[in-house]
Amino acid sequence: MSRRIQEHYKRRATASRAYSDYSVVPLEDGTYRVEKVDGTTYLVNLDAGTCTCPDFQRRIARREELAGVWCKHMHLCAASFGRSR
Ligand SMILES: [Zn+2]
Repeated sequence: MSRRIQEHYKRRATASRAYSDYSVVPLEDGTYRVEKVDGTTYLVNLDAGTCTCPDFQRRIARREELAGVWCKHMHLCAASFGRSR
């Protein structure tokens, strides 16, 4: 896993602006619904390490060297609910 890229996403997620731009709603099945202020919604599964955002789907999930990297939304969910990796 690329530590540098992981830290990049983590910084983006933990920037104070991220908390006002997004709201995170835990769902019953253990996943999270991340809603951006503009209405965009993504589904995050921390156990599986997946997110439905384009950044994850088109970039992280497709590149072997990025395996295990969390996108901004996953970091945001983890930070909001006291989980870390
Ligand atoms: Zn994402």
